[in-house]
Formats: sequence, C-alpha cells, structure tokens
Amino acid sequence: MNTQKDCLFCKIIKGDIPSKKAYEDERVYAFFDINPQAPVHILIIPKKHFSGLLDLDTADNELIGYIHGIAAKLAREHNIANRGFRIVTNSGSDAGQTVFHIHFHLIGGRPMNWPPG
Ligand code: 5GP
Ligand code: ZN
Repeated sequence: MNTQKDCLFCKIIKGDIPSKKAYEDERVYAFFDINPQAPVHILIIPKKHFSGLLDLDTADNELIGYIHGIAAKLAREHNIANRGFRIVTNSGSDAGQTVFHIHFHLIGGRPMNWPPG
C-alpha cells in the first residue's frame, strides 16, 4: 500500500493514531470527524495515499466511484439518506483543505446552506 510516513490519515489507517471507525475494507477506511460540522460527519478515505483530487489519475476512477457507493451506504446506515446529505472534498487553500490525504466528507443531519461559505 502506498502510504506516507508523515501523513496524519495514513497514521489513522494504520491505527497509529486512534479514530472512531465507521467502515473499513481492503481499499477504504471511514471514520468520524474529530470536529463534526453536523450531527453526522464521517470522513471516507482510500487506504492508498493521494495528497488530493489533483493527485488522481484515470486509473483511479473505479476507486473514486466505489468510495461514493460507500458514502451512500453510510448515509443509509446513519439515517440521513432520505432527508439529504452532502459529500465534500476540499482541494487547496481557498477551499480550506487542511489534511493532504484525499478525503470525502459525508455531512448530514441538519439543513445546509447554499452556496457553501
Ligand atoms: P479538510 O479541512 O482537509 O477538508 O478536512 C480535514 C478534516 O479532518 C477536518 O474536518 C478535521 O476536523 C478532521 N481531522 C483532523 N485531524 C483529525 C484527527 O486526528 N482525527 C479525526 N477523526 N479527524 C481529524
Ligand atoms: Zn496519507
């Protein structure tokens, strides 16, 4: 597996830093955000390290689609599928990306504003 020594989320995947797991399989890990922005706030990440969306290649298309399927499954499990939810990936400084291991925020359980802040 392509991991990076100084990456916070690679350490979380390895269990070197504790997290509250929401889902895991051989390719994907999901865990509850430490600073939740809504009643449900789960981070879904590939186990393979990518620094962000710009790091993806067409060879990763299937993995990224697969992650969205997991997001839908988690939305159902956490009872936000019917009322609605959001998947967010921040990319770069204007968007507020703070952790440089690609992650998909699954956020729901409250009404959300548009456009986002
Ligand atoms: P970004 O700002 O890069 O889009 O999202 C990073 C997210 O990771 C933030 O929502 C932040 O609360 C979360 N986060 C940062 N460090 C940790 C941690 O150690 N554990 C968990 N569970 N979440 C973290
Ligand atoms: Zn990483």
